[in-house]
Amino acid sequence: MAEEFHGYAAFDKEGILKPYSYTPKPLDDEDIEVEITHCGICGTDLHTIKSGWAPAMYPVIVGHEIVGKVSKKGSKVNDFNIGDRVGIGFQVYSCGKCDECIAGYNQLCPTRVFTINDKWNNQYQAHGGYADKIRAHSNSVFHIPKEISSAEACPLLCAGLTTFVPLKRHKVGPGMKVGILGIGGLGHLAIQWAAKMGAEVTAISQRYNTCNLKICSELIIFSNLTYY
Ligand SMILES: [Zn+2]
Ligand SMILES: [Zn+2]
Repeated sequence: MAEEFHGYAAFDKEGILKPYSYTPKPLDDEDIEVEITHCGICGTDLHTIKSGWAPAMYPVIVGHEIVGKVSKKGSKVNDFNIGDRVGIGFQVYSCGKCDECIAGYNQLCPTRVFTINDKWNNQYQAHGGYADKIRAHSNSVFHIPKEISSAEACPLLCAGLTTFVPLKRHKVGPGMKVGILGIGGLGHLAIQWAAKMGAEVTAISQRYNTCNLKICSELIIFSNLTYY
């Protein structure tokens, strides 16, 4: 009998999650199977279940801030062991060989596979973290440092990464001023990164955080934020 993973999927634009089982892709030589213990909720998950970005491939299991333990690994996976605590973000595959991958831009790989609402191929759909297990290429799986709890690690795998990368790329540090526009799921993490990097941080948001710039007269600005 074909192996099955079990999760909660949206079946239509209503976005109501109901139990759903699916056949996972075969475990290839460089793949890792993760038994999921934790999964964050990202705005993209909520958009996806309601076809907010584009028509979703229903039934769709979302969740792309995933932490769990390695339960199986392919024969060519050397840097992970069974039982290791690991995380997976928005991508479960990049080829590792194309110009983009070699330049370190795996997210631009033309053959990438996203964690949710995507297909490995015509036969196997990629389903996300509101499930018991997931399979991913080992180059899309990350060790979680023991200092971070699983629940705290989850949002860092999408919201955290999204805000950390531009700060790192622009070499934010002491003596620099950084403005964070919009203090929501991503913005509150950006404030903390930038403050830890030593910058003078200004948070720019609205009274109700509605992301509606028409009421910018109600902008609230917090300066010189310090996080410990
Ligand atoms: Zn996300
Ligand atoms: Zn590639």
